[in-house]
Amino acid sequence: MTNGGKIKLTSLVLETLQEYKQFDKGLLESGGVILGRFIKVSKNIVVDKITTPMKGDHQTRFSFKRISPLHQEIITDEWHKSNGTSNYLGEWHTHPEDFPTPSSVDIKDWKRKLKQDIFSGRYLYFIIAGIKSIDMWEGDRRTLEIVKLKVTN
Ligand SMILES: [Zn+2]
Repeated sequence: MTNGGKIKLTSLVLETLQEYKQFDKGLLESGGVILGRFIKVSKNIVVDKITTPMKGDHQTRFSFKRISPLHQEIITDEWHKSNGTSNYLGEWHTHPEDFPTPSSVDIKDWKRKLKQDIFSGRYLYFIIAGIKSIDMWEGDRRTLEIVKLKVTN
């Protein structure tokens, strides 16, 4: 990451992403929000919770739109339950391709989130779960720059 730290996904998060991967032609894109903790000493970030598609979300084979208000409710609940240590970090979705690359719609959405969303840190994180790899990007709220990250477990 830009700050020199690493972003880690817990095994539970990886298992959940794995479940929603579009292995099969009939499967729709899935997505949700990502939540996690900032580790001050190491500057690392641990993603330890994600939300999954809910009733009302818009899913097609090539798009996912988070519409259900439950995602936001979970963000708020987790923040309270954790005494403010579990934060909204960004968004994830799946792609029906082996190695995911963000579409022009993704980049537009991500930049809109960087501009509009209210969140504590300078950066937001975006995960795309392809069929063979799960990749992650860091978006800078000040410059709107989006950089691909290395994912470590
Ligand atoms: Zn996409």
